[in-house]
Amino acid sequence: MLNLRLPGPTSCPQEVLDAMSHHMVNHRGPEFAALLKNCGEKLKPFFKTQNDILILTCSGTGGMEAAVVNAVSAGDKVLAISIGVFGDRISKIAKTYGANVTDLKFPMGQAADVDAIKKALEADPSIKTVLVTHNETSTGVTNPLKDIAAVVKSFDKLIIVDAVSSLSAVACDVDGWDLDIVVTGSQKGWMLPPGFAFVSVSQCGWQAIDQCTTPRFYFDLKKARDTQAKGETPWTPNVSLMFALGVSLDMMEKEGIDAINKRHAEMGAYIRSKVKALGLPLLADEQVASNTVTAVGPFENGFEPDAFRKILNKEYNVVLAGGQMELKGKIFRIGHMGWFTKEEIDECFDAMAKTLKQMDYKV
Ligand SMILES: *Cc1c(COP(=O)(O)O)cnc(C)c1O
Repeated sequence: MLNLRLPGPTSCPQEVLDAMSHHMVNHRGPEFAALLKNCGEKLKPFFKTQNDILILTCSGTGGMEAAVVNAVSAGDKVLAISIGVFGDRISKIAKTYGANVTDLKFPMGQAADVDAIKKALEADPSIKTVLVTHNETSTGVTNPLKDIAAVVKSFDKLIIVDAVSSLSAVACDVDGWDLDIVVTGSQKGWMLPPGFAFVSVSQCGWQAIDQCTTPRFYFDLKKARDTQAKGETPWTPNVSLMFALGVSLDMMEKEGIDAINKRHAEMGAYIRSKVKALGLPLLADEQVASNTVTAVGPFENGFEPDAFRKILNKEYNVVLAGGQMELKGKIFRIGHMGWFTKEEIDECFDAMAKTLKQMDYKV
């Protein structure tokens, strides 16, 4: 079987895939309404929230765009905290819709510095909204979101969080940390194929949405909320994926959020120790290293991570991710989120060790 070690899409349990072969039902009928309601409720404990959670048919980026077009108006002052490609992406989305964005960027492999965020908010009281990534998938770094949110909320700003590659694998206490709009995507930690974004919205978030003047149609979150309350979605949803979501949430409920978080933390530490044992460099500072994706590199000895990945794929059926943007061709990434076993990780590292030997890798 393919050992798919990407930070999305991730492997799915057979039960989840089987659920997708269910016949179509009326998406405006009672069976679907019950399923949608059940899924909406069962998502809440993973977000640790009582907020509404909207299920949107789109990828994670659609969820990010939904957050922006519903809560950020043209001309709004926005602070965009970025530690990599996905932090840059939400900043770009906000700029696309005419927001007045101040970028606060940190070096690749590092987390955002909370004091620098505090200084940026002090320096410009007109900032209304802060955009931040929980887990930066391009560099394998998890931001100290609890501390960041505490600072942002001490200035009474709206906080929009890209938690696409952290929820549900890494704890994200939406109510406890007072996060306003939080976005995640089905193909990351949820043991599902791509196709859904889940978006939670706080009371403050709904107030911002009420005041927002940005035009929106497909991604109108008020419409999504009001329609979902009636057991429907505004537009035709991915019906097959909803059946799968029902099954994956049952499985995740059985395992329990704490056990899921613990499993990811243990496997994250295990994978980092295996990388070091091979003599390979970790991109991320270890104190802030992600427990869902590990970035390896950059390499200064002429080693080509893309050639390495090609051999792994062709000869060992192991699929790793490459670097993105500035890190293209410089690193590779190992995904470890959602549904996977320690055996798959061990197989992956066995294949990596053999391939490094084949390539005559010098530590
Ligand atoms: C994967 C990912 C996204 C984008 O999701 P798509 O489903 O590819 O649109 C956004 N943010 C982060 C942190 C991600 O890992």
